[in-house]
Amino acid sequence: MDRGNSRPAYIRVMQTTAAFAGLSCTDCGETFDAEEVPGRCPDCGGILDPDYDYDALDLTRDGFEGDGVWRYEALLPFPRSVAVTMDEGGTPLVEAPTLAEELGVGRVLIKDEGRNPTGTFKDRGQALAVTAAKLHGATDVALATAGNAGQAASAYAARAGLDSHVFVPSRASFINKAMINVHGGEMKVVEGRIGDAGAAFEDAIENEDWHPVQTFVTPYRHEGKKTMLYEIVEQLDWEVPDHVVYPTGGGVGLVGMHKGAREIRDLGLTDDLPAMWAAQSDGCAPIVKAFEEGKDVHEVWEVPDTICGGIEIPDPGASPLILEALRESDGGAVATNDSDILDSAVTVAQHEGIEMGVTCAAAASGAWSLAQDGAFSEDDTVVLLNTGAGSKDADVIRSHLMSKGI
Ligand SMILES: *Cc1c(COP(=O)(O)O)cnc(C)c1O
Ligand SMILES: [Zn+2]
Repeated sequence: MDRGNSRPAYIRVMQTTAAFAGLSCTDCGETFDAEEVPGRCPDCGGILDPDYDYDALDLTRDGFEGDGVWRYEALLPFPRSVAVTMDEGGTPLVEAPTLAEELGVGRVLIKDEGRNPTGTFKDRGQALAVTAAKLHGATDVALATAGNAGQAASAYAARAGLDSHVFVPSRASFINKAMINVHGGEMKVVEGRIGDAGAAFEDAIENEDWHPVQTFVTPYRHEGKKTMLYEIVEQLDWEVPDHVVYPTGGGVGLVGMHKGAREIRDLGLTDDLPAMWAAQSDGCAPIVKAFEEGKDVHEVWEVPDTICGGIEIPDPGASPLILEALRESDGGAVATNDSDILDSAVTVAQHEGIEMGVTCAAAASGAWSLAQDGAFSEDDTVVLLNTGAGSKDADVIRSHLMSKGI
């Protein structure tokens, strides 16, 4: 979508952090003033990425203050003082010793993103995206979403006093739809899957003055999610974990965390990059297929079908960035089936007490499969991203037990 050039020049000066230097296109390399572009690259439609003047930063390991996402404001585009925030982030990294034993590794830790304001890590991305919308002077934000991002967007829009327009596929969960309503979002339920919701969103936004907070249309969602990696490393006393396993749909979190890992390494705060692993369901695994075939870009997954709604993304537009992150970090990609994924959610709940969402359990199931394939060593530290609260999916996990007669 190309809305950048049609916008009036801004007289108001956007409040940004000292090191934030604007946006650069991950496709054509062109750079832009953040005030002038709310979405994709005006020249080529590519994904824009926030840039910083890292040399101007004089960061030390004990130089971060406060909690949550905004603790890292020096490495974010906007300061805490102008943020639309509900104290997102700052989630615990919970030790999982039984899983470590079962996987045959030194340590397993679960980054529990279920403890965010709307129950998923989508809050980190929407905090930044809605802050940007507000600073751009927007009155309305809009997106297509499998569900959780829509709930987060409508919540943050409500907090900022903005209207929200949320396009969800009919199979989005009841909780997501209900809470979008509760937050006062205008919801369009589109028959079909995420691709159909995306098409309806594209059609609608053409004729509206809506600010996009859609995955990889706004330049800021992956920027918010990179803070998960900073937190993990700080929670491990600045030891970089050997592996990070992430349930991958559009790859916003994975691309963000890899960027975060590179930044703190290049700033001299750490020495290494963690191996990033993309976990998907074999019912929709375009990243796994492209990785295994040595490709730089995915092919659209023709018949997506998985119970993991958050990662049922057949056409992840950022696949070149995801695949580059997997390769540069010496990680990889793994697909497991829905039945194993549901079993994993139950196993983690029963062996560790931790409630994993169904989509998130793809990370646990993927980690088991990677362990079996010898991807981990016995001393390794493995971090699993629990991207959302298990209780959001209680009905699905419970039905899985019932299907087994339990
Ligand atoms: C959106 C979502 C994902 C996938 O996120 P991406 O960063 O787009 O890959 C994973 N888990 C949950 C719970 C989600 O809501
Ligand atoms: Zn471009």
